[in-house]
Formats: sequence, structure tokens, C-alpha cells
Amino acid sequence: MSAGVTYADIEAAAARIEGVAHRTPVATSTQFDELAGCQAYFKCENLQRMGAFKFRGAYNSLAKLTPEQRKKGVVAFSSGNHAQAVALAGKLLGVPATIVMPKDAPSVKVAATRGYGAEVMLYDRAEESREKIAARLAAERGSMVLPPFDHPDVIAGQGTSAKELIEEVGALDYLFVCTGGAGLLSGCAIAARHLSPGIKVIGVEPEAGNDVQQSFRAKKIVSIGVPDTIADGARTQAPSALTLSLVLEHVHDIVTVSDAQLVDAMRFLWERMKMIVEPTGALATAAVLDHPGDVRGKRVGIILSGGNADLPAVSKLLAA
Ligand SMILES: *Cc1c(COP(=O)(O)O)cnc(C)c1O
Repeated sequence: MSAGVTYADIEAAAARIEGVAHRTPVATSTQFDELAGCQAYFKCENLQRMGAFKFRGAYNSLAKLTPEQRKKGVVAFSSGNHAQAVALAGKLLGVPATIVMPKDAPSVKVAATRGYGAEVMLYDRAEESREKIAARLAAERGSMVLPPFDHPDVIAGQGTSAKELIEEVGALDYLFVCTGGAGLLSGCAIAARHLSPGIKVIGVEPEAGNDVQQSFRAKKIVSIGVPDTIADGARTQAPSALTLSLVLEHVHDIVTVSDAQLVDAMRFLWERMKMIVEPTGALATAAVLDHPGDVRGKRVGIILSGGNADLPAVSKLLAA
């Protein structure tokens, strides 16, 4: 038995999100295949609702709440895509959402989260911890706290992305998945190994933020300092006990790429494939380009995890 999440959970999640989440398209590129020497299938979660796969896990989790629980609302802490995912899923399901964000979070992200109808609670990073604020709010209101990756329903929801990909294109030799806290990676690995036995699932992290790689190798949780990388969706400091156990069971290897490789991959995705992908969303693409020997002649799945790029910042990276 898997520690907590099975393929049946992913099938149940798929039924819950059907008709609500987009069944995102799969892109191919002859130019990419020539460059990488493989046959690549890109699952375009940059075109998912709110711009990233995180809508899958958030909606699956909130859809499971009882009417009583729904009334009491949900609390999440995030300054990134999880905030917008919980806000949108909450709006669609009538679950009041409160998002705890640092006072210095980019105003566009605060505005986007409010735009989906969530209440935003700003806090001072120097004085308080977001976990404590979220826990206090949840206790006062009886709401649930929905973490960005450390939750079986979130993981099952994220796994629907790989399920759709393999159902559409057939069995694969490899699946490359970017990794922050490994919710997406563990869910996708469970689905991929069920639908395409023999597949090798590879997690990809930024070189400067390889907490999951270190934990995978040590077979226990290794925590690192806040990583300095342009892949802001992968700035986690450690996987959770749940995600690490699933990664150890289902994932073949974890590799890393540098920020410079990420920028090259992003440039290819934007310029050649017309895909607006945020830096974290380009991790898997960069890793495939970095492993020509392994992927030559193979059928390779690549998850483009999100497209919420900060345009001025990305323009600077691409111009450099
Ligand atoms: C959250 C996020 C990730 C990392 O997902 P985990 O489940 O934490 O590993 C990767 N890419 C994007 C775009 C994200 O929003």
C-alpha cells in the first residue's frame, strides 16, 4: 500500500474536477524533438485555469468538503499560485477563502487573489509566522487549512495532469516533472506508473534549491535555507514526510538545472513554441535538454506546470 495516496484517489479526483478544470492541451514541437533527440509531449498546465496545475489540487480538496465544512471556509498561506488556486476553487464551490500573504507580496498577486474573491490577510514577515496566523484563523472560524502540497487530496488532484497526458498520447518512456514540495511530482508519478508501467519519472529542481534531491538521496527529510533561484515556485525548503515517501516509492531520480539553463529553456518555449511559461514551469524542459544521452529516441512527457510569469522580470531575464 502506498503511504496515503493511490491511483484510485487520482481517478476520483479526475471525476471531481471534470468539466471544471480544463483538460489542458498537449503540445509537440518538431524543433524541440530535433534539438533534444527525442519525441516530446508537453502537457500545458500554463493554460490551466488561473494559470497553473494548482487549480486541480485545490478544487479536488474543496470539492470533498461537507456542506457544513464549506460554510466554515478555507485558509491558505501562499504568495504564489496556490493562493490563486484556493481563491478560485473557493469561489466556484462557495467556500469562503482567506489567504495569508506577506505585506511585501507583489501587489499584482494580492490583487489577483482578491480578484477571485478571497479575503487577503497581510502579515509582517519580521514579526509573525504565516503558519501561526493561518492556524489561529482556522481555529477561530473552524475552517480547514489547505497546504500547497502536503495533503493527500492536493496530491491526488495534481496527479490528474499526468493521467490526462498519458491517456491522450499513450505510454511514455520518461516523464519529467518540476518539483517544489513534490505534490505535483508525487501525484504525477503515481498516475504515470499506473498507466505506463516501466516509465521512469524524473523530478527536476533548481540547482540552488535541491531539497527534494538531497532528501531523496538521504532517504529522509533534508531541509535547506531559502533557495536563491528564479524558479520561485520551487523555493521550498523541504518536502513533507508524505511527499517524500511517495517520491521514494514512485520516482526514478531527481535532477537539477541551473538558472541559466532555465532561461535558455524559457527562451525556446516562448520564442519557438509560443508558450508563456513561468521560470518554474520551464524546469522539466531544461532537464530534458540537459539529458540528451538518456532521452535519445524515447517518448518523453514534460509537464509545463504554470504560466504566471511576471512579464517585466522575465523580459529582463530573456534580454540578458
Ligand atoms: C507550486 C508550483 C510548482 C511546484 O509544485 P509542488 O507540488 O510544490 O512540487 C511548480 N510549478 C508551478 C508553476 C507551481 O505553481
